[in-house]
Amino acid sequence: MPEQSPFDLTEGDPFGPHTLPYGVFSTTEAPGLRRLGVRYGRHVLDLGALPDALPDVVPAAHAALLTAGTLNPLLAAGRPVWQEVHAAVRTALTDPAHRTTVAPLLRPLDDVTLHLPFDVADYVDFYSSEHHATNVGRIFRPDDAALPPNWKHLPIGYHGRAGTVVVSGTPVVRPHGQRKAPADAAPVFGPSTRLDIEAEVGFVVGTPSTLHAPVGLDAFREHVFGVCLVNDWSARDIQAWEYVPLGPFLGKSFATSVSAWITPLDAFDAARTAPPARDVPPLPYLDDTAAEPGGLDLRIEVRLNGEVLSRPPFAAMYWTAAQQLAHLTVNGASLRTGDLYASGTVSGPEPDQLGCLLELTRGKGPYLQDGDEVTLTAWAPGPDGVRIGLGEVTGRVLPALEHPAGAPA
Ligand code: MN
Repeated sequence: MPEQSPFDLTEGDPFGPHTLPYGVFSTTEAPGLRRLGVRYGRHVLDLGALPDALPDVVPAAHAALLTAGTLNPLLAAGRPVWQEVHAAVRTALTDPAHRTTVAPLLRPLDDVTLHLPFDVADYVDFYSSEHHATNVGRIFRPDDAALPPNWKHLPIGYHGRAGTVVVSGTPVVRPHGQRKAPADAAPVFGPSTRLDIEAEVGFVVGTPSTLHAPVGLDAFREHVFGVCLVNDWSARDIQAWEYVPLGPFLGKSFATSVSAWITPLDAFDAARTAPPARDVPPLPYLDDTAAEPGGLDLRIEVRLNGEVLSRPPFAAMYWTAAQQLAHLTVNGASLRTGDLYASGTVSGPEPDQLGCLLELTRGKGPYLQDGDEVTLTAWAPGPDGVRIGLGEVTGRVLPALEHPAGAPA
């Protein structure tokens, strides 16, 4: 049987010429050298080698962006450059005239190590699924209204910990912390017993903004480079005890996993969809009724140890990524290249569409056990029936480490 050409994609592969996500990889020959890559099927195109190989296709002015070891210089270059680079990559991979030149630059995905693709600047997490917020409200605050009074007026969010954002495949060590069940007389310290996942979608900021210059809904595409999947690992016992009144803290900050691949925002044009009807009219800076459809029809799948747990629909999100960005900057706060903001847990209306174990088990558990592996995948409809893929996010839970505070594991 002849060896299959790297240009031949499997039928239905969501990483074809309409997707072309960016990442960072190294090889066994040079493990310390990080290079930019573009995923094509089951291969990685060595982007850093492309300017020399195809000087007529890749503008020389962009060569320095592509030979960096992180996506940040490309992110900072702005949308016109993103589009030029994307067009050049697509030409390199799809024009038969370039095949013999490009073939040696394609490495099997299984032969490379993938790294965190960009240096994360700030990390913000929202809470924008009405189904998720309602379910969590009922579980955590059964005596109050499920949604807090501000929920339909603004996309609620909190600032997370950028330094503990890790790439897909990184193991997650069960965190220690304080917990106190309502019936307990006093808090105890030890490894979390209610470790959970949150299936989310992340947005990566490329073009920065200046202080005191809010980024309106119509500037979303100028600033957001691309999309990834996020698993916002959550220790529910730590979270439940610590979160009043300032919100999530150590129950979230021990690890947040992101895809190794960032899919360009423009790849999702065919997946744009109207968000659900808002029953409370938002203030003008959040009013998107006259804007292009802000929802994205991403179909997420959550697997636990290989078995499908749920299929959360991103199209059901109440607040869109453009509204989240407008809200994030409406007070004059500026954006930096590498800022990451996540949607909040994606849950739909059906029992098999819930994005975390807290909801899937109605707060009763079981939660994650040591050794459990959770994998998020997603795709969106593209042009002419093709699928647009998001890089998977996977992570395995490792047992709690011995802790200097001496609490038993
Ligand atoms: Mn979250």
